[in-house]
Amino acid sequence: MASSHLVRTEAVVLRRHDLGEADRIVTLYSGHYGKVRAVAKGVRRPTSKLGGHLELFTHVQVMLARGRNLDVITQVETLSSFLGLREDLWRAGHAYYVAELLDRMTEEHAENAALYRLLVTTLQRVATAQRPERAAQLFEVQALDLLGYRPELRRCVRCRGALQPDSIAFSAGDGGVLCESCRPSGPLARALSANALKVLRLYQDGDWETVNRLRLGDDLRSEVEQVLSDYVQYVAESQLKSITFVAALRRQGLATASQVRPAG
Ligand SMILES: [Zn+2]
Repeated sequence: MASSHLVRTEAVVLRRHDLGEADRIVTLYSGHYGKVRAVAKGVRRPTSKLGGHLELFTHVQVMLARGRNLDVITQVETLSSFLGLREDLWRAGHAYYVAELLDRMTEEHAENAALYRLLVTTLQRVATAQRPERAAQLFEVQALDLLGYRPELRRCVRCRGALQPDSIAFSAGDGGVLCESCRPSGPLARALSANALKVLRLYQDGDWETVNRLRLGDDLRSEVEQVLSDYVQYVAESQLKSITFVAALRRQGLATASQVRPAG
């Protein structure tokens, strides 16, 4: 214990699962260290000082003892428990979605302070706004942006040409909209109405008050939802593949490091 390094950071509880008799492993998204997995020792005992502060989605200040594999939570204090999320299943569902998306799309120990701030702001909105689903959708678009997957919505992503309002398509694989001549046939690109494109651009601009005030009919709402969910799914899958790939490379690198000879 004497050699362990103590650090303090703000964080949000994304996930937790039980470990052994009384411990729990908690996945945190922190302001200083990105995603971190840490052990909360004895947290399931009624006498634990940590208990109650580590509920899902709680915004906390934690003290971590950095470990080789897992950190250990030594102190925790609640900054906000976002009560609205605890009293309403619809809100809680959107908070789950936001937490899971962030967990799937991020690697451990990759700091992203802007993404952390977006997470806290989003949970606050999901807990209190009239339309928590809007806050979750704005999170989808803004998080993609902060993770380097900003979709091109202004001109054709392949030829950079201008778009004709009545023949636009969205292609998740290309990462944006396609003009009529670049649009492939088949299921790889879906038609996108000019209105849905406008809504997506507003999400990308990121102004919550504007997004929150939008009045969308059922068809338009479901079109926007569908395009976003296709794209998020596509990015999450490729992100997951690249995380797995990098992890495999690292393992292989460790295994073969002694055999590697510089080229030439
Ligand atoms: Zn084009």
